Amino acid sequence: MQAKHSIQVPEYELVRSAKRKTVSLQVKASKVRVLAPAKVCQDEITRLVSSKAEWLWRKIDEQQQLLSSKSERQFCHDELFYYLGTPYQLDIRFQEQCVTSIELDALAQKIIVNVANSFLTDDFQQEKLQQQIKQKLQLWFIEQANLVLTERIVELQQSTGITMQSLKIRHYKSRWGSCDAKHRINLNWLLIMAPVTVIDYVIIHELCHIKHLNHSAKFWQLVKQFYPNPDSAKVWLTKHQAHLYWV
Ligand SMILES: [Zn+2]
Repeated sequence: MQAKHSIQVPEYELVRSAKRKTVSLQVKASKVRVLAPAKVCQDEITRLVSSKAEWLWRKIDEQQQLLSSKSERQFCHDELFYYLGTPYQLDIRFQEQCVTSIELDALAQKIIVNVANSFLTDDFQQEKLQQQIKQKLQLWFIEQANLVLTERIVELQQSTGITMQSLKIRHYKSRWGSCDAKHRINLNWLLIMAPVTVIDYVIIHELCHIKHLNHSAKFWQLVKQFYPNPDSAKVWLTKHQAHLYWV
């Protein structure tokens, strides 16, 4: 894990009210809200949220897990999986003596899963087959994520003129990426399911954290300089969140 000083503060919505006496933090459906009295200054709110960042991420994680467990996957024929923003249907094909493998048929919008027909024996184990497909699918997505995300970050470093220290593609339960004080960027491999424009938003967001390690007005100003409409990307991610988290 990252050192405490470099824990990113999650995004939050600030709601001020004249009636409130104290600041309170809420996490609902993995979204953070800060309820504050009208007169408390932004610095104080930022300080409080930063000091609670670890706790907030834990809450977000817990709630995200509940959300994703609602979209339990079967890894069966015709089931939909997003790849670069397009829904693809799983096409499970039983073959003679084959090693489980994945192929993409972009034209037919199918992810072909070749499986040995020995799975269809008398002691056919549905669960074992599902596990096998899930594992191979996950490996395939991670492989694609490594290729695509690396390619995008190389290009976006050039176009923004912001350079990171290193890139790691990893698994996160409840976030798309992170950037620490040493300019090391991590990206969630599940992003490979989002459209390239959304992937670009997440990368630009993290690159801008190299200049501003917070979500201040200056940070958003910089993001918008390179990505004028971040809201559309954020909406896409929120809307598809439960579907994208299946691991
Ligand atoms: Zn951020």
